[in-house]
Amino acid sequence: MNMAELQGKTRQKLVVVGNGMAGIRTVEELLGLAPDLYDITVFGAEPHPNYNRILLSPVLAGEQDFKDIILNSVEWYAEHGITLHMGKNVATIDRVRRKVIAEDGTEAAYDRLLLATGSTPFILPVPGKELDGVISYRDIRDTELMMEAAKTKRQAVVIGGGLLGLEAATA
Ligand SMILES: Cc1cc2nc3c(=O)[nH]c(=O)nc-3n(C[C@H](O)[C@H](O)[C@H](O)COP(=O)(O)OP(=O)(O)OC[C@H]3O[C@@H](n4cnc5c(N)ncnc54)[C@H](O)[C@@H]3O)c2cc1C
Repeated sequence: MNMAELQGKTRQKLVVVGNGMAGIRTVEELLGLAPDLYDITVFGAEPHPNYNRILLSPVLAGEQDFKDIILNSVEWYAEHGITLHMGKNVATIDRVRRKVIAEDGTEAAYDRLLLATGSTPFILPVPGKELDGVISYRDIRDTELMMEAAKTKRQAVVIGGGLLGLEAATA
């Protein structure tokens, strides 16, 4: 079925799992290309709307606030008729019934399913990795934990001297 045929029909249900940069950029493109094609539902594990992950280091450095790096406000989702489930981790995809189910039982049926769940940082499998104060650097929660720790702790060790490690150390 081509785009024109699809648009002539009842809206399809698009479920996006992952309320991050790739998922919502895709939604923005879809809204531009065919605003009436889908009823869109977005699930995000983080309790926030989509934000610019690339700018976490300026937040860590105290140069920007979290609100400055939000890309799509909660109002933006509402204005575009998007159902947003924040803080809901999708745990099950029922491919037979074509629905996703979050850990808290929230369900959404789909015709099309977009998985845009990003990646999970690798943590070295060494003794002590589970101790308080050992974190990865991926999201605003990690950033807040580092900022909180910096209020009372004087020493930090960064493992990984790549872009993120250096940004974190500098911040
Ligand atoms: C500090 C930092 C600096 C960076 N700087 C740069 C840079 O300068 N240039 C560059 O190109 N890239 C940079 N990156 C990388 C860039 O942010 C990522 O490549 C980009 O965010 C990937 O987008 P994504 O949508 O695939 O994943 P994400 O933006 O991580 O979004 C995925 C979302 O899916 C959610 N999710 C995962 N599983 C589930 C589930 N089961 N149910 C519901 N939600 C789920 C996650 O919580 C997350 O919010 C940086 C990353 C960090 C952390």
